[in-house]
Amino acid sequence: PQIQNMDQSNDGSLAQVRHVVLVLSGKGGVGKSTITTELALALRHAGKKVGILDVDLCGPSIPRMLSVGRPDVHQCDSGWVPVYTDAQKSLALMSIGFLMEDPDEAVVWRGPKKTALIAQFVSDVAWGELDVLLVDTPPGTSDEHLAVLENLKKHRVDGAVLVTTPQAVSTGDVRREITFCKKTGVRILGIIENMSGFVCPHCSECSNIFSRGGGEELAKLTGSEFLGSVPLDPQLSRCIEEGEDFTQLFSESTTFSAISSISQTL
Ligand code: ADP
Repeated sequence: PQIQNMDQSNDGSLAQVRHVVLVLSGKGGVGKSTITTELALALRHAGKKVGILDVDLCGPSIPRMLSVGRPDVHQCDSGWVPVYTDAQKSLALMSIGFLMEDPDEAVVWRGPKKTALIAQFVSDVAWGELDVLLVDTPPGTSDEHLAVLENLKKHRVDGAVLVTTPQAVSTGDVRREITFCKKTGVRILGIIENMSGFVCPHCSECSNIFSRGGGEELAKLTGSEFLGSVPLDPQLSRCIEEGEDFTQLFSESTTFSAISSISQTL
């Protein structure tokens, strides 16, 4: 995509962003980007102005989930102008995928190149006024996370939401994530268990394909709040794959109770 200069009356960077929340996961494929998107849509539904900063170099998938494709990114005096998903400008998105010629290329980049890009990217987006900025990070705990934190200036980060699947809990990936938060002084706002059981579309019975409840146990063990569980939903994955709006699928679901708990602690 092309990068163009545009004069916009957006104020720079994070000056007018009230809350910054990181979304973390121990490994890829657990639904971190899906949950980030759901949280953003639920916050917007609750009347908040929301931004998503998609820093997942390994797979910037949020533009696809929000059906914005790969738009041209414009620059104003105070930085990159985010892409708005609606006319009311209530949901702003900036994805590292917008700035990369070939998103698959980053996989072969060395650490310093990745961290340099993240550093520039995190501090150079002209968000304007936002209630909450959700940051979709790469999976794991890497130099890239430290680069995100350094450039968000730690005191601006309100905390992190950890996404896990029931089976990932036992692998220790989430525990490492918790240790990372403790060491870097990031408050854990809570844990969400995704892909927690499968609700049969025919009889509505929930089958626990993987063991269930690991997220809740882990929350207890680590003194974190358990924000809820989201079941595997074939309709959700179909909507995501086909770029359809999936807001109606979770209007009554966990994500709403999760955001209300998070909102209370912010
Ligand atoms: P991550 O960001 O952790 O790598 P994604 O959010 O990209 O994971 O999700 C990985 C895949 O799993 C996607 O194809 C997504 O559609 C699917 N997925 C995630 N959560 C669910 C769910 N609760 N029900 C059905 N499919 C899901």
